[in-house]
Amino acid sequence: MNDWFHVSALAEGVWQLTEPGHVASWLIAGDDRAALIDTGCGLAPIRPVVEALTDRPVVVTQTHHHFDHIGGTHEFADVLVHPLGVEGLAADVPAELIAAYEDYADAMERAFATYAMLDARYFHLVEDAHVPRARPAGPWRIDGVRATGTYDDGDLVDLGGRALRILHTPGHSPDCVSLELVGERILFGGDTVNTGPVYTQLPDSDVPEQRASLARLAAMSDVWDRIFCSHFLRTEVRPEYLARQVAALDALLAGEVPLALAMDCTGRSVLEARFDGFSFLVAHDWRAPVAT
Ligand SMILES: [Zn+2]
Ligand SMILES: [Zn+2]
Repeated sequence: MNDWFHVSALAEGVWQLTEPGHVASWLIAGDDRAALIDTGCGLAPIRPVVEALTDRPVVVTQTHHHFDHIGGTHEFADVLVHPLGVEGLAADVPAELIAAYEDYADAMERAFATYAMLDARYFHLVEDAHVPRARPAGPWRIDGVRATGTYDDGDLVDLGGRALRILHTPGHSPDCVSLELVGERILFGGDTVNTGPVYTQLPDSDVPEQRASLARLAAMSDVWDRIFCSHFLRTEVRPEYLARQVAALDALLAGEVPLALAMDCTGRSVLEARFDGFSFLVAHDWRAPVAT
């Protein structure tokens, strides 16, 4: 066991496995099996952490195929992803992509030292779940994994006594899904809902699709109290947050929002539309659709 992961209990048989500063994954134990929603960035084994929490067989349920969500997927036999993520999941992650992210992580860790010092003096927001751990030494690689099954919008992943409902929510990437813990008022939004920059600048991102996915979630959000997201130090939002993000995207799509120069976590220059508590990244060649 290692302390790379910060484990917090969210509800009976539901845990968040946080790699502070990097990404969060979630474990939900049913009577028959457990679902592991994403497997982290692969810097430390996640399976021993999972097995310390549940003795049920584990099915990995991917929110999507991006490298920072699949690092430990190879540790498990049973892996589900949206059909549009099968190919990406099976591909080895390019070494250059990991190297670029390592540069970002180095800079983030250096910045955190100053941030923590200021927090201890003035602000008092930082908890253990927020503190980036020292990254394990040695080479970091993420090999592709073959999915053992797929799911699509409306499908249920039955865990025995509780179930996850799949909501296809493309926009950040075409294969993004959000997972509803049915009847338990919890939604796992993955990268569809984030509290810092929402990445809609990637080659296969689609800003109008992201708007449609968030609007769909916002319209059904009275069945949830808690929504969990993958990145940054705030990994939980209230359902009202969805409508705020939809309104922000409406303004962005109307061309009403100034765009600032920014950098994403792979060192790519992007444009950022900033709002209160979150932002959206878009590519330099992105243009708001012209109204007809
Ligand atoms: Zn992603
Ligand atoms: Zn991500």
